[in-house]
Amino acid sequence: MSLDITTLVKKYDTPLYLYDFNNITNRYEELKDAFSGKKSLVAYAVKSNSNLAVIRHLANLGAGADCVSIGEVRRALKAGVKKYRIIFSGVGKRDSEIREALQEDILLINLESEAEMKRVEMIAVELGKEARISIRVNPNVDPKTHPYISTGLHENKFGVSIDTAKRMYIYAKKSEHLNPVGIHFHIGSQLTELAPITEACGIVADLVRSLEAIGIEIKFFDIGGGIGVVYDDEKTIAPADYAKAIISQIKGLDITILSEPGRYMMANSGIFVTSVLYEKVNGDKRFVIVDGAMNDLLRPSLYNAYHKIEAVQKEGEKTPADVVGPVCESGDFLGKNVELPPLSHHDILVVHSAGAYGFTMSSNYNTRGRAAEVAILDGKDYLIRERETFEDQVRLEESCDISWQE
Ligand SMILES: *Cc1c(COP(=O)(O)O)cnc(C)c1O
Repeated sequence: MSLDITTLVKKYDTPLYLYDFNNITNRYEELKDAFSGKKSLVAYAVKSNSNLAVIRHLANLGAGADCVSIGEVRRALKAGVKKYRIIFSGVGKRDSEIREALQEDILLINLESEAEMKRVEMIAVELGKEARISIRVNPNVDPKTHPYISTGLHENKFGVSIDTAKRMYIYAKKSEHLNPVGIHFHIGSQLTELAPITEACGIVADLVRSLEAIGIEIKFFDIGGGIGVVYDDEKTIAPADYAKAIISQIKGLDITILSEPGRYMMANSGIFVTSVLYEKVNGDKRFVIVDGAMNDLLRPSLYNAYHKIEAVQKEGEKTPADVVGPVCESGDFLGKNVELPPLSHHDILVVHSAGAYGFTMSSNYNTRGRAAEVAILDGKDYLIRERETFEDQVRLEESCDISWQE
């Protein structure tokens, strides 16, 4: 991002999320182009960054939305995503969520169990509707990623086995209120190797063929998300190779390829900006205490995830320091052993690759307001979420009657 961070910090203060919307455009176009020549839909995984301005930007480019709660479906609709490009996934959907998704007539409801299929059917009967469904298959493939973000093994809670899926398709085909048009898998996140994706794709494509043989025609082949990104110096998957691998596995099938990228679209489209409060040394350990914390960016604390951290316009000999926030937890850190020059009050640090699973995982822990979010498009900055105030945080408590305590 070629922009003057110091100026933006003066204008918006810290902690601050900054997103490069031109980079989002580039990521979208690159993936869409990789599938050119095939029928495809890129359904952006809203959970990675659900700011309305982000979703709207992608909707304007033609993207759909992959949602994991009715709240996300509502965000997608509000941001202008066409209902026929919205998918509703997730391992535990409430009746009210299923009902609303059916009433909104979105493209697909992704099913993750037989019990859920029965619920969806029941609600579709109640509404006199036919539910377009897809079934999430768990292909039992090791995605070779962090165990917390692995989802395609039988030991993970997601999806159903091939045998169960087949039984479900046969049931759904017979039902007057279920229309099984899709198949879905998502084996994990931050995938940096193609082989597991290719393998999963092959397994699921075989299932599609065996369903076709018994008269069940699948129209949407949903490959999930998971394309890895560069946080440090890892090698990852090029969209063109990704598409090629998938297309090679679905030869002979007349099918629309759905993809659900989140991290790929957003991680390196965003940075987290924080100001230095103090430096201190405990024994021979150097700490840089900043105004951003685990409540703003949880990934380091949650997954021990690496984010590159750099000082803005600051020279001097670099030595290792832990970059920590003010939250009262030892697990509250943004980086460990980060090589940084000597720093003083008001110096600015940039935490890179923070556009995905950054703001969306933020909380009010320690009664800290959520950070502001700013979009940069064609060199101009736009506030897309106000900094959260104390009043915002206590509103739902103040609206309750606590006079019984007086
Ligand atoms: C989280 C998730 C995604 C997005 O994953 P990324 O790694 O961010 O691309 C896509 N599909 C499903 C079903 C998910 O749960």
